[in-house]
Amino acid sequence: MNNPAIALIGAVADAIVQNKEFLTSLDAAIGDADHGINLSRGAEAVRAKAAASPNADIGALLKATGMTLISTVGGASGPLYGTAFLRAAAPAQGKTALDGETVKLMLAAAIQGIKDRGKATRGEKTMLDALEPAFEAFVQGLEAQKPLVECLEEATEAARQGVEFTKTIIATKGRASYLGERSKGHQDPGATSSTIMLAAITDFCRKAP
Ligand code: ADP
Ligand code: MG
Repeated sequence: MNNPAIALIGAVADAIVQNKEFLTSLDAAIGDADHGINLSRGAEAVRAKAAASPNADIGALLKATGMTLISTVGGASGPLYGTAFLRAAAPAQGKTALDGETVKLMLAAAIQGIKDRGKATRGEKTMLDALEPAFEAFVQGLEAQKPLVECLEEATEAARQGVEFTKTIIATKGRASYLGERSKGHQDPGATSSTIMLAAITDFCRKAP
């Protein structure tokens, strides 16, 4: 395989599938025990879709990824992640390589898509509690003129801290909000899956030639 974007999609799909049981167990605690199952199904569908378009540019691959997630994942996270990837596709349209500024635009667009779709804000115990701090750390790294991989590493670390933060707060959006106070003490499945994806992207870029 010589399209690095397809290899990257494969690495992210692997990470999701490897964490299928873990993500599902997190969702069993405060939701309906399907997050890992849903996302793994989506990840396999995305992998197959990407493999069928070996010459696609990054924007086209992300667009196909978003549409595939919307049609295969279901639940709250399918449309949310689907919208995120569709929005991230726009700044990457026609590109076969990415620089820090483009990645920044892609992350910003993805987060805005999740907010538009889910009407959540930071602090409601959702994927945004990982993604927003990750974005801020990424931008700080860029502004300090750090290399892209270092910006991604700092973003992933901020996302991990965001996941820890979700243990301390009550869910006010999504299924976990039905639990009220009882949602406290558990980490959010979506914040966790976002962090797993970011970590996989970071690892891939660290190892890239
Ligand atoms: P469902 O709750 O429909 O079963 P999933 O289990 O696949 O869907 O995904 C649950 C995750 O979706 C949550 O952990 C949370 O991070 C995220 N989520 C739910 N509602 C929202 C929302 N309105 N905005 C952002 N993220 C949300
Ligand atoms: Mg669920």
